[in-house]
Amino acid sequence: MKSLSPTPLAKDLSLRGQDLDKQRLYNKGVVSPNIERVGNSLIVKMHGVRGSIPQPKNTSKYGGNTSCYELVTDDFQIILDTGTGFQDVILDRQKTTIILYSHFHHDHIQGLPFNLGVFSHQEDIYLASGLVNRHVLKNLIQTYFSGGYFPVDIVTILKQLKFTNYSTLKRKLASKCKLNMIELNHPGGCMGYSFETSKGKFCYLLDNEYVATQLDSLLKFVKGSRLVLWDGMFTEKELELREGWGHSSIERACIFAEQADIRELIITHHSPARTDDELDQLSKSLTSSKVSFAVQSSEVEF
Ligand SMILES: [Zn+2]
Ligand SMILES: [Zn+2]
Repeated sequence: MKSLSPTPLAKDLSLRGQDLDKQRLYNKGVVSPNIERVGNSLIVKMHGVRGSIPQPKNTSKYGGNTSCYELVTDDFQIILDTGTGFQDVILDRQKTTIILYSHFHHDHIQGLPFNLGVFSHQEDIYLASGLVNRHVLKNLIQTYFSGGYFPVDIVTILKQLKFTNYSTLKRKLASKCKLNMIELNHPGGCMGYSFETSKGKFCYLLDNEYVATQLDSLLKFVKGSRLVLWDGMFTEKELELREGWGHSSIERACIFAEQADIRELIITHHSPARTDDELDQLSKSLTSSKVSFAVQSSEVEF
């Protein structure tokens, strides 16, 4: 991992017209069995690696923002969940922007209107989730960000938010990126995703309470991955009192990584109670050389 350059506070607010190529790609909905060369970029950026609630205390090294990750290719900017880390995402007008939700617990959606770029972005922003169809998705987001919960109804104001079915998104990405999903073990449901391009495969597996019955399907799902992101919110000891809360452990991540045909697994969704010092200490006890802890504002380049 390497550090991202500092987020420019002054964003380029110059607007430009619709990118016709991007629009054509969406309109065409091309399905191709062959993944085209994606050029020279595939980067995963970590904008929010904390679970449940933002934690500013003793987290300056690993970060305190809640779930938000960004997958960048030459053509697409795919944002995975919009926790408070979403405030640091720079929306790229040169690419098609997609927000893909794993599920709708508040730590995965709460940052959506706190990215100032969302309000100035003139191009469409596509929102989808494998968990629900576009109508349910729109209703969930609109309910959370309106009425008694939020001062403005962002779904009504932001016409550029385009609620899309997962199946439509999958078709539209198909020529550049093979997208798949897997059902995870989490109260209320949650979807994990894999992204496969000519540069490599990346899996996003949070939130998930890993149990032995998932082993075969998860091993198959992650096979050949360059990088897997894993929910390791708790330790095994902490999990004794938190069974059924929907999160996995650091120890299970290490065991799984050793069994899986993958190059690297990064544990994320850190407990808000976990300090930098504790994560440093836990780093020394990791039992797989493939495993490390996610650090906010870092990135992995494929
Ligand atoms: Zn979560
Ligand atoms: Zn959750």
